[in-house]
Amino acid sequence: MNAAIRPFSLPLSDPLETARGRIERREGFLLRVESEDETVGVGEAAPLPGWTEHYDECELALANAAETIERGDDAEAVLENLDGLPAARHALDLALADLRASRAGDPLYRHFGAASRVESVPVNATVGDADIEKTVEAAERAADAGFDCLKLKVGARPLSADIERVEAVADAVDADLRADANAAWSRQQAQQFLDAVGDRLAYVEQPLPATDIAGLAALSGTIAIDETVAEVGFEDALDANPDAVVLKPMALGGPRRAVEIAEEARDEGIVPVVTTTIDGAVARTAAVHVAAAIPDIPACGLATAKLLDSDLGPDIAPVADGRAVVPQGNGNGTADTWGYHA
Ligand SMILES: [Mg+2]
Repeated sequence: MNAAIRPFSLPLSDPLETARGRIERREGFLLRVESEDETVGVGEAAPLPGWTEHYDECELALANAAETIERGDDAEAVLENLDGLPAARHALDLALADLRASRAGDPLYRHFGAASRVESVPVNATVGDADIEKTVEAAERAADAGFDCLKLKVGARPLSADIERVEAVADAVDADLRADANAAWSRQQAQQFLDAVGDRLAYVEQPLPATDIAGLAALSGTIAIDETVAEVGFEDALDANPDAVVLKPMALGGPRRAVEIAEEARDEGIVPVVTTTIDGAVARTAAVHVAAAIPDIPACGLATAKLLDSDLGPDIAPVADGRAVVPQGNGNGTADTWGYHA
């Protein structure tokens, strides 16, 4: 099997302020594999410190993986060497799944086990942190654009201001609301927020620091976990007793692993939600396939294409009316992407 990697660097439309600093670009690698029968698979690694290994580690791991595969080692076995390097593992996991699905003539989500055709999956709009007026405006714009589910960023302002923002949006729009605190609060603040506006929200995402498992488990209200999964893994995260779990294929080590964990979550009575880590078009499209493979998936965080100023290729899973189109071509449908940076 042939294997080669190529770096990419995609500017964000607006720089992202995170707990770990300002992000201006999403940089990573495309991995292209080609079997003897000339079937091609393409995967993407978009490392994001805090969620995955660092860029340099990812590059080294992928270069080694490509070299080993070129030498003739079994690619699935090489995948096992990438445990603990989720972005690199994502690239290879996706490339192999893309290749296999393409060879079988199936779209990726069918290869992942979907029993029937899925035309589109619901997606949420993200309403960033802004003052109450701008928050309501942004929420109304998203609802007018057809989104039935809105995610509000909270946790950056005083608790009372966030409570007012949620109340104002809930009064203004007819949509399911979620709040994402990105681990910002103390136990007391989180419980206060849940008591005040919990009944107006579908759930509150990551109200407490990632490792405060006992605190999360003790909260009274409907919660989702996100950072906790990246920090301690899905199995240990179960002790937080979440109602929903955010699954980021890039942080979990690949789309096939994300589908597996979604099934485990459902077995535990936990609602799975799929999101990107603001990935390029290859990984974002794969995340749409992951969501399409999960029955009765709720709105997912997949409407992230517009956060990039340029992309790896054309958007074949565009969002309209609050839904992302599921590509029906062979595999992930993005193998042509490789040609765009030839
Ligand atoms: Mg989150």
